[in-house]
Amino acid sequence: MVYDTLIIGGGPCGYTAALYAGRADLKILVLEKGTAGGQMSTTDHIDNYPGFPDGTDGYSLASAMERQAARFGAQTVQAEVQKVQLDGPVKTVTAGGKDYCARTVIVAAGASPRELGFEEERRLRGKGVSYCATCDGVFYRGKTVAVVGGGDTAAVDALFLTRFCEKVYVVHRRDALRAAKEYQKRLFANEKVELIWDSVVERILADGNVTGLRLRNKKTGEIRELPCQGVFIAIGSVPNTAFLEGQLPLDEEGYVMAGEDTATPLAGVFAAGDIRRKAFRQIVTAVSDGATAAKMAEESLMHLRS
Ligand SMILES: Cc1cc2nc3c(=O)[nH]c(=O)nc-3n(C[C@H](O)[C@H](O)[C@H](O)COP(=O)(O)OP(=O)(O)OC[C@H]3O[C@@H](n4cnc5c(N)ncnc54)[C@H](O)[C@@H]3O)c2cc1C
Repeated sequence: MVYDTLIIGGGPCGYTAALYAGRADLKILVLEKGTAGGQMSTTDHIDNYPGFPDGTDGYSLASAMERQAARFGAQTVQAEVQKVQLDGPVKTVTAGGKDYCARTVIVAAGASPRELGFEEERRLRGKGVSYCATCDGVFYRGKTVAVVGGGDTAAVDALFLTRFCEKVYVVHRRDALRAAKEYQKRLFANEKVELIWDSVVERILADGNVTGLRLRNKKTGEIRELPCQGVFIAIGSVPNTAFLEGQLPLDEEGYVMAGEDTATPLAGVFAAGDIRRKAFRQIVTAVSDGATAAKMAEESLMHLRS
């Protein structure tokens, strides 16, 4: 069987693509290695997705998106994509040891936040550990938080958090930031921000919720405990592109080089959502990409048939 469109990844982007493609009467299949919803399914409070005045939790939103796409014919196979062959008129995607063929492919495999790597880190997600200041900053109104990192994301997150928090520490392992000079100037000028240089996190301290960080100064070896109620880890994210090596152009960080129209250099192949090189990675931007990719796939199929 040759599908019209295979969608790799069942996050908000993938299921929005499935919804639009299903409503356009395309024969589609979603390949998802885990549970529906992608990154958002790991958070229990989403306050910035329109249509939910009281917010919602990631799991409910994910399963609603999956059910809505299923109503228009989107089926999901739970399997990890290991290999793709994307050139030519019929593309082959290998998942769970089986080959799936389609005329168009939407790659929506997302990204994963880079973790510090502590055992307690995952347990404390939503209990003081966050990877997204835009998403969670407002929950820390009046509190003391630490941002770990030294690049643009860490600087922007720290500046954003000063809107709500009483105090924002920036913990960086070097003695200079990598962030753009403009952000650095604003950080140094902000009274709420305190930079902690040359320091790495040894442990996240908690009593059920985050209570602080244990830090080690790399130059002096000094250990200190930094009380805080939240830690925002801003050390980058890792795009899920291992299976795309050699098939699609990736940027220096591994994100797929595709424009706002989600088109890639390969005819009939689209990259959408967090996996794409883009400025802002959120649920709303992922669903927007998903809709665009489905429309592009539909147009490319029309072109093939005419
Ligand atoms: C903890 C956390 C909280 C967040 N909170 C918010 C928030 O409150 N508001 C907001 O707007 N954004 C939030 N975000 C960001 C938001 O979740 C992402 O921007 C969004 O999920 C991206 O959607 P996506 O579909 O492009 O990718 P993803 O959500 O990453 O989904 C990709 C899917 O592809 C699957 N996949 C990956 N590789 C393969 C493979 N080889 N084979 C098969 N399947 C594969 C994954 O399992 C995953 O389900 C949060 C992110 C995190 C990590």
